[in-house]
Amino acid sequence: MSFDAAKARADFPILHQEVHGKPLVYLDSAATAQKPRQVIDAVSRYYECDNANVHRAVYQLAERATRAYEDARAIVARHIGAADPREVVFVRGTTEAINLVAQSFGRVHVGEDDEILITGMEHHSNIVPWQLLCQEKGARLRVAPLDERGDVILEEYEKLLSPRTRLVAAVHVSNALGTVNPVETFIALARERNIPVLLDGAQALPHMPVDVGSLGCDFYAFSGHKVFAPMGIGVLWARAAHLEAMPPWQGGGEMIASVTFEKTTFNEVPYKFEAGTPDVAGAVGLGAALQYVEGLGLDAIAAHEAELLAYGSDLLTGLGGVELIGTARRKAGVLSFVLDGIHPHDVGTILDREGIAVRTGHHCAQPVMDRYGVPATVRASLGLYNTREDLDALARGLGVVREMFA
Ligand code: PMP
Repeated sequence: MSFDAAKARADFPILHQEVHGKPLVYLDSAATAQKPRQVIDAVSRYYECDNANVHRAVYQLAERATRAYEDARAIVARHIGAADPREVVFVRGTTEAINLVAQSFGRVHVGEDDEILITGMEHHSNIVPWQLLCQEKGARLRVAPLDERGDVILEEYEKLLSPRTRLVAAVHVSNALGTVNPVETFIALARERNIPVLLDGAQALPHMPVDVGSLGCDFYAFSGHKVFAPMGIGVLWARAAHLEAMPPWQGGGEMIASVTFEKTTFNEVPYKFEAGTPDVAGAVGLGAALQYVEGLGLDAIAAHEAELLAYGSDLLTGLGGVELIGTARRKAGVLSFVLDGIHPHDVGTILDREGIAVRTGHHCAQPVMDRYGVPATVRASLGLYNTREDLDALARGLGVVREMFA
């Protein structure tokens, strides 16, 4: 399937505006992706026609809301190749999904002197929940180091898989470097040793097909808002056997079967992990977003973005004085860079005056900045709606930055 970015771009109302009198060039999809009309309409339609609380009433609206929520779960399950919709737990986002695994699975399986293995390119949300767990349990966090380009050093990763490793938690695609990790290898090496694997897929879902069945991981976390759905909804996928064995982590309504003051029994999977009123509209929006990218074709989106990434890398390095941070063998969606002698925040502020939205800072991955000896980077990140013209505008904007500092 060939991909028409200009046509897709027309689906995103927010992109068609000016900021500071210049056409908006949005290059911050790794922070949050914009929403197509199809998603905005699905959410509006839900609130205009079907809104009610789910699973709790017999009247029409509640039945429709429940059906919409469960249909969204089925769409997610099919999209990521889950064996059963029961394996899809709706959460607020990647952060909450990882905390759920740490607080539920982690508390049961990690004890004193045990180890959790992560990589040197994790987002803070795949570091801090494990540090909290390690502190509580007297366990250790081990970190697979990165090479100069931004790839995990596989021999080191393998060496760090020890008889005490209780879990590997690794990012599928890095938000700071763009590295697409060889997660199949991570998983194969861990599984040989019966070590479960969690993948942080926040930056993978928008850019490529993901199939948890063929990956063979144990847990997969992602956020709706990065994949063109609303903020506030996300997914933890886990094998049903894990979910069934795991204790609940938050108590309240929805997650119970029966409650007395003496004893509570818990609802079945996945509801056991969905305490309280869920974000039904968010789930509906997520279902619509996944159908939207399926309609465009994920392979076609990936090919379009790969072409853009190559174009952008050549363009930026051709400018001189630009150092790309992250030149891994396989990359998706991210151009992180520093400009000789100019602080990234100054670059970002001047680009904003040119209508260009990029992120500057540590991208919630401070250890990555430390590894490459920079306090921050400028990050231009791509979505399916970006075009060569956006990257040309970025290059022109960097020219303006240069002039101001000349
Ligand atoms: N992991 C990665 C790789 C991310 O890029 C992000 C968001 N920047 C997160 C986790 C956290 O996602 P959220 O804030 O949506 O929970």
